[in-house]
Amino acid sequence: MPIREILKYGSPVLHAPSVPVENIDRHVVSLVDDMVATMYAAPGIGLAAPQIGVPLRVIVIDLSVGEDKGQLIKLVNPELVEKEGEQRHDEGCLSVPRYYASPVRPQRVTVKGLDLDGKERVYTATELLARAFCHEIDHVDGVLFVDRLSPLKRDLLKRKLRKRVKNGDWEE
Ligand SMILES: [Zn+2]
Repeated sequence: MPIREILKYGSPVLHAPSVPVENIDRHVVSLVDDMVATMYAAPGIGLAAPQIGVPLRVIVIDLSVGEDKGQLIKLVNPELVEKEGEQRHDEGCLSVPRYYASPVRPQRVTVKGLDLDGKERVYTATELLARAFCHEIDHVDGVLFVDRLSPLKRDLLKRKLRKRVKNGDWEE
């Protein structure tokens, strides 16, 4: 389960929609293993395949960051099928280190997708888990949380980010 490099804001694969997985074969299973290892090492509570340079619709989430195996979610071809209400909390992203902002997210979501056995899974989530699902599904759509801010905040942030991309300044 090698830990992979997490791509940063500005990498083209993060800004384009990923493609659906057609076959859940051993490559996809090993991709998911790498994603989980990379998420725990970061550490983070979620990761999408494009963040490690693979343009496939695959996400992993674990709000316990490895403390509780029961909380690990691995989802292939995730889809937001229902959303309700609104919430706003600080959010960060492993691909946008050191930036936090509060995009509007639904309070409650229903998400469906496939597990690694190809079986359909449906999750209903609120609070942090709802935000995590939205954040990771955005990733496979090529959308980062900074794209969801108000135009003014977004412009400010993007100016800073562009400068950091240019200078290669991503150190923690
Ligand atoms: Zn992210």
